[in-house]
Amino acid sequence: MINLETPRKFRAFVNQAHQVAAEMLRPNSRRYDLAEHEYPVELDMLAAMVDGLGASGTGSGAGASGVRRPSAGEEGVVNGSNLSSVLSIMEMCWGDVGLLLSMPRQGLGNSAIASVASDEQLQRFDGVWAAMAITEPDCGSDSANIQTTARLDGDDYVLNGEKIFVTAGGRCDAVVVWATLDKTLGRAAIKSFVVMKDTPGMTVERLEHKLGIRASDTATIRFENCRVPRSNLLGTADIDKGFAGVMQTFDNTRPLVAAMAVGCARASLELTRDLLAEAGVHVDYDRPIHLQPAAAATYLSMEADWEAAYLLTLQAAWMADNAQPNSLQASIAKAKAGRTANDITLRCVELTGTLGYSEHELLEKWSRDSKILDIFEGTQQIQQLIIARRLLGKTSAELK
Ligand SMILES: Cc1cc2nc3c(=O)[nH]c(=O)nc-3n(C[C@H](O)[C@H](O)[C@H](O)COP(=O)(O)OP(=O)(O)OC[C@H]3O[C@@H](n4cnc5c(N)ncnc54)[C@H](O)[C@@H]3O)c2cc1C
Repeated sequence: MINLETPRKFRAFVNQAHQVAAEMLRPNSRRYDLAEHEYPVELDMLAAMVDGLGASGTGSGAGASGVRRPSAGEEGVVNGSNLSSVLSIMEMCWGDVGLLLSMPRQGLGNSAIASVASDEQLQRFDGVWAAMAITEPDCGSDSANIQTTARLDGDDYVLNGEKIFVTAGGRCDAVVVWATLDKTLGRAAIKSFVVMKDTPGMTVERLEHKLGIRASDTATIRFENCRVPRSNLLGTADIDKGFAGVMQTFDNTRPLVAAMAVGCARASLELTRDLLAEAGVHVDYDRPIHLQPAAAATYLSMEADWEAAYLLTLQAAWMADNAQPNSLQASIAKAKAGRTANDITLRCVELTGTLGYSEHELLEKWSRDSKILDIFEGTQQIQQLIIARRLLGKTSAELK
């Protein structure tokens, strides 16, 4: 049975993540928001600490690289690396989402590797910082429409195509690239490949200027006759095993993005409560909402929404740790948390007036940063579509 309190064994670890967020991420937040594309050097030391925790076993799941599932059928209730990852990501994103996304070796590509790699691949790619490249100029939400090709030639796959909006694509060591083995076979032929950064034929074309998460680099990457060893195909090359293999990554990564949203929204709520108190508006948990000032009532309803997002995120991660199918819950958590974070961060700007809108506080930044959390790893609309399909028992062909 699920117990939604933070497990005792993770408490010290979560406190540590919070301390790092308060002392290293928050103080550098504005600086790297203003200095877009400048490398946040402070993160190198932090990443080394996280690696150390991982190696000692105390911090498994300190970031995106920890989300490996146990095999189905394992005995007992498990609080594992998916749960510890979402808990630590919530804390880190209370500090700064863009900086969390820039943490070496904790990229979304690392979760893809952790989710679907064989044990041999997991060992081979240990310590590699991996970005995730699905989106193309003509393929975003419709990820079954991948145009990048992977053609087997001897012991290599030869990749051709273009990937856009690759988070950490400029700074990473490797990119997990979705490509099709045969366009005529549709979604079943889509596989993911680990492409190391120095591979000939792979070029980082440019970095994007963005609304939010400006500390995180976002790259366009071109592949021209880029040869990748056959053994870098993640999971199975078997076309009969189909699209489900690569899609399985999302069951682990969507709760992580939901956790980012939960962390960012909590940062906004806490600062807003303090600013309201300074302005003489106190949120009273012992009085009915209709007897409180409008700002306090708005605050309380935002907190209730936040709590729902938080609990749904824990549920989705806990199910992954316990080898339960969680595609539905992962999408519910991502939809609720992404939408809630957008709503909360913007309403906090509204509630705090000129203070919220100006650069004196980070509230305006959080409202910009949170937008992406309702877009990448599947937009709000796509999550709702997936949820509807699952609840109604419809296929993707029946409900588009
Ligand atoms: C800052 C940033 C970082 C990113 N990082 C990465 C990354 O690391 N790796 C990566 O692969 N991608 C990344 N992306 C890309 C992101 O995942 C896509 O932007 C997203 O999947 C949406 O795709 P699209 O932009 O092509 O929009 P489209 O798919 O063209 O959608 C446009 C709008 O239409 C809606 N829509 C589309 N289809 C439907 C439908 N069937 N029903 C209802 N509404 C629909 C969408 O919800 C959206 O609102 C990133 C994007 C940004 C902005």
